[in-house]
Amino acid sequence: MIVIGVGGMGSAALHHLAGRGARVLGLEQFDIPHDLGSSHGVNRIFRLAYYEHPSYVPLMLRARELWHELEATAGESLVHVTGSVDAGPAEGDVFSGSLQSCRIHGLDHEVLEASSLNARFPGYRLPEDTMSLFQPDGGFVLSERCIVAHVEAALAAGARIQAREEVRDWASTPGGGVRVETTRGAYEASTLVVTAGAWTARMLPELTSLAVPERQVLGWFQPTSPELFTPARFPVFNLALDEGRYYGFPVFGAPGFKIGRYHHLEEATTADEVNRTVDRRDEELLRLALARCFPDADGPTMALKTCLFTNSPDEHFIIDSLPGYPQVIVAAGFSGHGFKFASVVGEILADLARAGQTSHDISMFALSRFR
Ligand SMILES: Cc1cc2nc3c(=O)[nH]c(=O)nc-3n(C[C@H](O)[C@H](O)[C@H](O)COP(=O)(O)OP(=O)(O)OC[C@H]3O[C@@H](n4cnc5c(N)ncnc54)[C@H](O)[C@@H]3O)c2cc1C
Repeated sequence: MIVIGVGGMGSAALHHLAGRGARVLGLEQFDIPHDLGSSHGVNRIFRLAYYEHPSYVPLMLRARELWHELEATAGESLVHVTGSVDAGPAEGDVFSGSLQSCRIHGLDHEVLEASSLNARFPGYRLPEDTMSLFQPDGGFVLSERCIVAHVEAALAAGARIQAREEVRDWASTPGGGVRVETTRGAYEASTLVVTAGAWTARMLPELTSLAVPERQVLGWFQPTSPELFTPARFPVFNLALDEGRYYGFPVFGAPGFKIGRYHHLEEATTADEVNRTVDRRDEELLRLALARCFPDADGPTMALKTCLFTNSPDEHFIIDSLPGYPQVIVAAGFSGHGFKFASVVGEILADLARAGQTSHDISMFALSRFR
């Protein structure tokens, strides 16, 4: 079996495949890890209160178990629990969808008006009319360390993994397998798993309109009152404002309070053409939310980085075999919310690659929904 792309999802697939005794080769065009795709920048939000759709919650619960197993294997903490805040107008998707997920799945939660939330977590200064759902099990997952841990576990279980080797092309073979051509050689295998992130369309041109890269910007800003932004005092957030939907983290792993805006400037792009320079306009967009809701974090800039979302038309994932090619499995279109699931996506990809099916409910992620 061959896995194209050793990022968030590919590293997890390699771990699960090698762990089940499959002969597997992982090919990565850059370094492992690197900061040109979708998984860099220290961490990603991990939340169980899932406003996007309640059916993500069972997957999240399994993902959490698998992250804990990986922590035990790696001997390091990969998930940090801070609690999570999903906030916005009472009738908006973020607050009401998160509340619905918690109710349907019996997750612990508290509904807090802005004054109560601001008093309990004083780094927050949410506007008066904002409703918040606090879920105590949310937090963040260390995305780059997770890739390293998955790769190390896969290598220990016998996977072959090669970085700085770009896959140029692939084709099916007469026997129903695949042949892959890279910048260093050619390989044949029974099954191909494509976890190429923002480069998916280059490997699978039929997915060009279904897995669309979008430029994002992450910012780190040094708080003027750092004691309010520690993991013990500041839960991660997902916040719908009139200015847009923002997300953020306590200070951890890099200097500064980390914040981003979903869909940033709404710049669809390609992974090879994306503008990786960050300018004043990018920074000002992030500072809007700082000034309004986190004034004690509105200090000097520490870092600004670009990153890539890969959006599907309905912003739900794509996990399926490729029509006409049952030996090719694709996981793409994670639409800016996939990393927390990478562990369970790896398990699902191993199920599909080995048995052609999985016991997880992935019906929402089928390619047939776009026909
Ligand atoms: C700014 C930002 C914030 C985010 N916030 C969150 C969050 O808080 N919570 C959350 O759960 N998710 C979040 N996400 C989404 C999450 O990070 C992504 O869904 C996830 O990282 C996608 O993983 P991936 O494996 O698809 O992509 P990647 O990790 O980018 O991996 C794809 C890999 O494939 C390789 N590749 C591609 N083509 C080839 C080829 N031809 N040959 C060899 N290798 C190839 C690439 O080099 C890359 O390493 C965020 C994303 C961004 C950009």
